[in-house]
Amino acid sequence: MKPRVVILGAGFGGLELATLLSEGLGVDVDVTLIDKSDTFVFGYAKLDVMFGRTTGDAIHIAYADIEKPGVRFLQETVTAIDPETRRVTTDGGVHEADFLVVALGADYDLDATPGLAEAGNEFYSVAGAERLRELLPSFSQGRAIVGVCAAPFKCPPAPSEAALLLHDYLSERGVRSECEISIVIPFSTPVPPSPETSRALVDAFVERGIEFVPAHRVSSLDPGRRVAVLDDGAELPYDLFLGVPKHRAPDVVRASGLTEEGYVPVNPRTLETRFPGVYAIGDVATIGVPKAGVFAEGAARVVGASLIAGLGRGEKPDAYEGRGSCYVEFGAGLVGRVDVDFLSGPKPTGTFQEPSDALVAEKEHFGSSRSARWFGHS
Ligand SMILES: Cc1cc2nc3c(=O)[nH]c(=O)nc-3n(C[C@H](O)[C@H](O)[C@H](O)COP(=O)(O)OP(=O)(O)OC[C@H]3O[C@@H](n4cnc5c(N)ncnc54)[C@H](O)[C@@H]3O)c2cc1C
Repeated sequence: MKPRVVILGAGFGGLELATLLSEGLGVDVDVTLIDKSDTFVFGYAKLDVMFGRTTGDAIHIAYADIEKPGVRFLQETVTAIDPETRRVTTDGGVHEADFLVVALGADYDLDATPGLAEAGNEFYSVAGAERLRELLPSFSQGRAIVGVCAAPFKCPPAPSEAALLLHDYLSERGVRSECEISIVIPFSTPVPPSPETSRALVDAFVERGIEFVPAHRVSSLDPGRRVAVLDDGAELPYDLFLGVPKHRAPDVVRASGLTEEGYVPVNPRTLETRFPGVYAIGDVATIGVPKAGVFAEGAARVVGASLIAGLGRGEKPDAYEGRGSCYVEFGAGLVGRVDVDFLSGPKPTGTFQEPSDALVAEKEHFGSSRSARWFGHS
């Protein structure tokens, strides 16, 4: 019988893993890739939607386009996971696995921040970005806050990118001088492992008159008084709140017994959970790396190589090193890059590449190469 690999979640991690298994094992493996959605969206595309640089419709890539030997995509919602027996229940049936990989990402918990749902806006979901796209044209004066409600959150540079792109957006509309922009993040610097990247971002904030409020998170919003309350009780008045909501593992994962302190603990080198034959990759896991697509992909590569090696078709992989490159929108049409390494040395390190046109093209290639690899799009 062919080995049965069931991958839960067709995001960055799940798509890369399914691709690798198909490349390495072809029809000799039985991969079932399950996602509740019918389309994939790159996380960074939400910023483009919010600022009207593209439409919500244009950013969806249909899972129906996946055509890979050995891989079957099912649009189903996972309702229960039993890690002991590697049995998964969905709204479409039951799936038994020899190897089970949980790649269900992180969900948002708006209710964890009182007032956020009624009086603020989040830009981390497509629906939230689409709402903001409608709302932003009516914001022409007053204070906008880009505020992070809790760590960990996806793509640590994204709030900084949002603040810089908001500056451009308001400048282009000729209303920047009527508006103030503040950014509140829970870290002491915008990108902690890379002092150079952080310095460049803080310089960009200063040049643009963006107020930087580090080492704080937004703990609630008071809709009546339109103030954001920070974790030390300080208050910041706002007219427009662009929030990064608290994240958490999907409920079905939390109910499975796989989580500890909110996420799935794994061996950071192998991505194995404490249950034999069960792995967790990407945002759903606690790996010691940020929640970002590039890290989910890297983890998928280690699990893919390890499964292929286990089936006698390749070399055992080196340990996961937690390396990745993130593109950072600096505004004015330019993109920078930070190359980070979280696990290979004694402490995380990061190097910075100055914003440039070349990196704009490189970021575009990052997206198009994944569309080609995962979906066969040219
Ligand atoms: C504004 C923004 C900008 C970003 N920019 C970048 C960037 O520039 N570079 C970068 O690397 N990362 C970026 N990210 C982060 C990146 O999008 C995520 O970290 C990445 O998608 C995580 O991959 P994953 O495979 O762990 O999970 P995901 O890609 O989130 O995939 C999880 C999948 O599981 C599915 N799912 C969840 N629950 C169920 C269920 N019960 N049943 C079935 N399916 C389910 C979901 O539909 C989803 O498709 C950004 C994120 C945001 C919000």
